[in-house]
Amino acid sequence: MTAVLSIRDLQVSYGAVPAVRGVDLELHKGELRVILGANGAGKTTILKALLGLQKATSGSVQFDGRPILGMTPQQINKLGISWVPEGRQLWSNLSVYDNLLLGGFGVADKAVRRREIERMLERFPLLRQRSRQLAGSLSGGEQSLVAVARALISQPRVLLMDEPSLGLAPLMVKQIFDLVQEVNAAGVSILLVEQNARQALQVADWGYLLENGAIVTQGSAADLSQSSTVQDVFLGGSI
Ligand code: ATP
Repeated sequence: MTAVLSIRDLQVSYGAVPAVRGVDLELHKGELRVILGANGAGKTTILKALLGLQKATSGSVQFDGRPILGMTPQQINKLGISWVPEGRQLWSNLSVYDNLLLGGFGVADKAVRRREIERMLERFPLLRQRSRQLAGSLSGGEQSLVAVARALISQPRVLLMDEPSLGLAPLMVKQIFDLVQEVNAAGVSILLVEQNARQALQVADWGYLLENGAIVTQGSAADLSQSSTVQDVFLGGSI
């Protein structure tokens, strides 16, 4: 299979403190892979390095065979990588529509941006219903939908998702994982970061377990669900 994203020996430090230590990771075209890890394991830092938001100390990252470390976030977004940040990070005092408009800033052509927003409103009727409403007045699940739609406006080939289920009610968690699967089925390769191992392993093809900035185990989602390490760390002994 073709690797759309290929990470080799990635190291990232904050000052003298290493946060990511020698991570190797691949994402193949059409796949959904998950990085599992506890608070502070380094999951967000990996995503930030891929997006050009945090400088890597060393290592390489290739997108479609092209090295991207050192590029600006705008350049990386333009190549086809987009993200859904942890906590959604919407402008709560702006309408849903304006959030989509501002969030799609990477699409320089305004006509294209408006066309893509229109496609999102078609695809997610709830967003059309809520388009004039302030984003901050939506439920957590609805805000997640806005954050996903915003990330899709630039028509990414790879979507990085940082804990989309965090803080949501159980019913909403299910809806968000359905949405993640739907986006993936539509052809977007996804690298998901999650603490919700049980749900994430149900939708993912492959998983990595990150501890203290290093990958300690990896495997197919089916195998990882059975792995005693993953069960001990996340699943309280049973899945
Ligand atoms: P969480 O689930 O809590 O978001 P995470 O797995 O995403 O955790 P990171 O946010 O990547 O973890 O953090 C990895 C390590 O780097 C942690 O020890 C954290 O305290 C540290 N760290 C993160 N951001 C910074 C920063 N801006 N400056 C200094 N240290 C940081």
